[in-house]
Amino acid sequence: MGFKQTRARSFGGQVGQRRKWVGFEWNAAGALSGAVVDAGDGTQHTVKFDTCVLAAGAHSGQVASLANIGSTQAKEASLRVPLPVEPRKRYVYVFSTQGDNGPGLATPLTVDPDGTYFRRDGLGGNFLCGRSPCDDEEPDCDTLDVDHGYFDTDIWPTLANRVPCFEAVKVQSSWAGYYEHNTFDANGIIGRHPHYSNLFIAAGFSGHGIQQTPAVGRAISELILEGRLTTLDLSRMSFDRIVKQQPMFEVNIV
Ligand SMILES: Cc1cc2nc3c(=O)[nH]c(=O)nc-3n(C[C@H](O)[C@H](O)[C@H](O)COP(=O)(O)OP(=O)(O)OC[C@H]3O[C@@H](n4cnc5c(N)ncnc54)[C@H](O)[C@@H]3O)c2cc1C
Repeated sequence: MGFKQTRARSFGGQVGQRRKWVGFEWNAAGALSGAVVDAGDGTQHTVKFDTCVLAAGAHSGQVASLANIGSTQAKEASLRVPLPVEPRKRYVYVFSTQGDNGPGLATPLTVDPDGTYFRRDGLGGNFLCGRSPCDDEEPDCDTLDVDHGYFDTDIWPTLANRVPCFEAVKVQSSWAGYYEHNTFDANGIIGRHPHYSNLFIAAGFSGHGIQQTPAVGRAISELILEGRLTTLDLSRMSFDRIVKQQPMFEVNIV
């Protein structure tokens, strides 16, 4: 986001640090025409727009609902379909082998069949690891507190089974963040909204959005500037697949 904000500023964009998008405005024809923003100091104002990109990460589904996307009262069927993106808390743990018999520098990102992943973090024998819990074990999203027991019970045994010297590791630090989980098919939703022709969605990347960033940014800019996708045909990733109930599942998502 930091990079995106710097680039946005360099092209004359406005970046609000503590501003929160809390509503939409419509013109007389029913098109979206502005974003209502809470300035964080008790005031609200409207940012008028011709074109809007909805890219609110884990909160994209909630922001979409501000535009009545997913409203059961909507007359048009495509507007009754919610943007299925919600927060899912995920933990990342850092452990160290202290350089003792650890996997070498060429160790790739390694994903065990049970979903546990690890990768090197720098040159000093540190590793990052994590694993998405099963659906019925999803932690609540009220806080970003880390469940340290989850490493001990669910991750460590797999690590030690895969790499024997990991039996002796200790967690050095940890943190939690929110995956922007697409509950429909755990993949990004990219493109124009079928009801609002000036609303473009780039959301729901479900924990693998950073690696897709260049392609998504290019696709959204092509749709806005040229009216169509010209470099990569990402049309299967549009919101239409949710309206048509055609999920695009992918195996081995962590
Ligand atoms: C623990 C963890 C590990 C991850 N590891 C990887 C990885 O290894 N590889 C990978 O590719 N991806 C990874 N991801 C996923 C990656 O971080 C996301 O896919 C990516 O950040 C999504 O980018 P985005 O721009 O859609 O959303 P974000 O980066 O979340 O940006 C959304 C922005 O919208 C803002 N916002 C939200 N609501 C509002 C509102 N109402 N008003 C104003 N602003 C609002 C937020 O503050 C935020 O700045 C990981 C995520 C987590 C949590």
